[in-house]
Amino acid sequence: MNTFLSLAHKASQDEYLKFVSEHIAPRAHELDRGELAPKDVLATLAQAGYLGITVPASYGGKGGNLLDLTILAEILAGHAAGVALALASHYTVVELILNFGSDQQKSRYLPLLARGEVIGAQAFGEEKAGSDFKAVQATAVVEGDAAALNATKTWVVNGEIAQLLAVLAKSGDQLSLWLVDANGEKNAADSLKVGPARAKMGMRSAVTNDIILTNHKVSLDNRLGGASATCDQVVKAVEHALDVSKTVLAGAALGLADQAIALGAERARTHEQFGESISKFQGIQWKLADLSMDRAAAQMLTYRAAWSKDEEPENFHKYSAMAKMFAAKVARFHSGEALQIFGVLGASPESEIERIYRDSKLTEVFEGASEYQKVIIKEELGV
Ligand SMILES: Cc1cc2nc3c(=O)[nH]c(=O)nc-3n(C[C@H](O)[C@H](O)[C@H](O)COP(=O)(O)OP(=O)(O)OC[C@H]3O[C@@H](n4cnc5c(N)ncnc54)[C@H](O)[C@@H]3O)c2cc1C
Repeated sequence: MNTFLSLAHKASQDEYLKFVSEHIAPRAHELDRGELAPKDVLATLAQAGYLGITVPASYGGKGGNLLDLTILAEILAGHAAGVALALASHYTVVELILNFGSDQQKSRYLPLLARGEVIGAQAFGEEKAGSDFKAVQATAVVEGDAAALNATKTWVVNGEIAQLLAVLAKSGDQLSLWLVDANGEKNAADSLKVGPARAKMGMRSAVTNDIILTNHKVSLDNRLGGASATCDQVVKAVEHALDVSKTVLAGAALGLADQAIALGAERARTHEQFGESISKFQGIQWKLADLSMDRAAAQMLTYRAAWSKDEEPENFHKYSAMAKMFAAKVARFHSGEALQIFGVLGASPESEIERIYRDSKLTEVFEGASEYQKVIIKEELGV
């Protein structure tokens, strides 16, 4: 578990384990059933400083790095993968501002985001712009000192609780990025509507809504990258923020795989069939051995992706795509195998492995489906 981690990362890991065992693990079922408000859960994380892990200390954050954040997602996800997804959405906004924001945007928003007084949400996707985010149909038309935004953004995690949305739009034939102030649950303006929470098979501890902007006015001060940002720079900024988010979600997939191992091994040790423990059957042993090996490989790739953001930035795009795709595949395939060990008990909504399986499948879909990660990986090879 601690391989490759510095003493500081190990200390963070211990702190996160304690936090999750006290505040999240005991409430895993309630979180999955949507009985706890996501904003209250994020408030608990905010109190611990976990909404500002990668925000520099000069802006009120913890000054940590992506590996710190990825380890938190890993530890959270076995109990509440949706909370890790909510963090990924929040930190996409943090990263956009850190990497592409003006000094004014940094001073205005980063301290609020770090303290959790403002929750961020990534509003890139649309019905016809999923993996291919460049195909957005949202428009931002500049009129004087403001822009009028028209958009229907779909499946926005934190949508109904976020006070700051990062919205991707087209200005003429150029892509543009906007920080849109929202009022979280108090949204009532006709120009900014939040759709009802979307039902979904997994990740239910995150709330996901559509956001509809109708002639919604945004100050030009809130244009990320400024008026002179080229389409290419916007694409790079979005890709970079998604690379951060994908690495965090690869961490979440690792946490799901971890929990699948723990649950599968425990069930194998404690269940009998044909007069003996099913853990004596080689077919069961091999499932667990394969899971353990693949999870370890996924962890190395994910930690490498997180490390490469600062230490080998030229390879970050490639490694984050590899980590997200591989860790998601490991979580989805092996949670199915662990569920198989449970037999019929795995089919019950009361069983933890059923939740792990549902959550794991979604890791292959969001933040660019797995097939699209392969497009990134092959492009890096010049093919
Ligand atoms: C739980 C959840 C949370 C989400 N949260 C957010 C959010 O906070 N903000 C946001 O903006 N969006 C969010 N999304 C949307 C998410 O980003 C998209 O689902 C994702 O990018 C994939 O897009 P899509 O679903 O439209 O599928 P598409 O991209 O349309 O893909 C459909 C199918 O085509 C395949 N495919 C796509 N491209 C290729 C290719 N080049 N080669 C081969 N096959 C391909 C895919 O694998 C898939 O099988 C969320 C989605 C989910 C499920």
